[in-house]
Amino acid sequence: MSKILANDGIDSVGKAMLEAEGITVITEKIKQENLANELFDGNYDGIVVRSATTVRADIIDTCPNLKVIGRAGVGMDNIDVNYAQSKGKMVINTPNSSSQSVAELVFAHFYSVARMLQLSHKDMPSSGAAKFNDLKKTYSAGVELKGKTLGVIGFGRIGQAVAKIGIGSGMKILAYDPFIETAALDLEFFGIGKVNVEITTGSFDELIAKSDFITMHVPHKSGTPALIGKEILSRMKPTAILVNAARGGVVDEAALLDAINNNLITGAGLDVFDNEPTPLESLLNHPKISCTPHIGASTAEAQERIGVEMATKLIEFLKK
Ligand code: NAD
Repeated sequence: MSKILANDGIDSVGKAMLEAEGITVITEKIKQENLANELFDGNYDGIVVRSATTVRADIIDTCPNLKVIGRAGVGMDNIDVNYAQSKGKMVINTPNSSSQSVAELVFAHFYSVARMLQLSHKDMPSSGAAKFNDLKKTYSAGVELKGKTLGVIGFGRIGQAVAKIGIGSGMKILAYDPFIETAALDLEFFGIGKVNVEITTGSFDELIAKSDFITMHVPHKSGTPALIGKEILSRMKPTAILVNAARGGVVDEAALLDAINNNLITGAGLDVFDNEPTPLESLLNHPKISCTPHIGASTAEAQERIGVEMATKLIEFLKK
């Protein structure tokens, strides 16, 4: 009988699918420093992680019985994938399940910064009753998304899901992806049916210069240079709002703070940070930055889809 450690948890539907196939699923959280010993002593066939647990070469070397490493999510930067594969381990992730959740969070950040909700959410509880009319003045300079240009850098699964929401919101889409020329997007309108829209990707420089709202959905390898740094930020519209829900490191955080403080861009939304889980305080406290603690894929719907996708792949691998 196979045994899996789901160290960052697994959705109950996926867990039930595994158990129905006779696979034991342990969801007790093991501290990172004890993980190798636990995997070795417990004679596990596999480990499933989200982003909190890392599976590096030391764990892979210490646990020869480990056959499969699962990442319940997309980015595999917390796993030494190449090393694991070189040691004959199967590495799987669930790239198809979280796109809609991440895309919706991107828009939550866009709407928040466009209407200064991140700040008004703080002011209203403390002074909404005493200073209602003052706050009304402060928060009356918001902007709309409809009719604006949305720049999407990286036009894979999440980038395309973002573009669909943008099109539905009446935005013009500029997409950049060096590996994708065109993408056919199926937009489903409730009670109306499907509309197919073809988007052709274009120039990075044009996107940077013309977009009112910019979001990046690219992979990132830690230690590599930021895709968006000082020089690129300086070419954005002063009214631009930037969201990073890809990975910390895709945007240079110091350059971003500098750009916002010097009014080179208007604000930002951040779901991911350089130094998780201890992000820079000056980003968290900034009035023009809307922050969330890496929750892009963390909706009930996405977690269930991730659990089912992971369970399906694990069953296929362990039962073959
Ligand atoms: P994907 O592989 O479907 O798409 C990534 C796209 O980026 C590809 O089309 C690729 O061609 C393109 N790309 C690569 N390098 C590029 C570059 N330099 N410039 C422009 N485009 C480039 O991946 P996805 O499912 O869309 O996920 C994107 C990223 O989102 C993941 O790498 C992951 O780190 C992140 N993510 C974050 C969360 C979260 O919780 N915030 C959740 C899921 C995924």
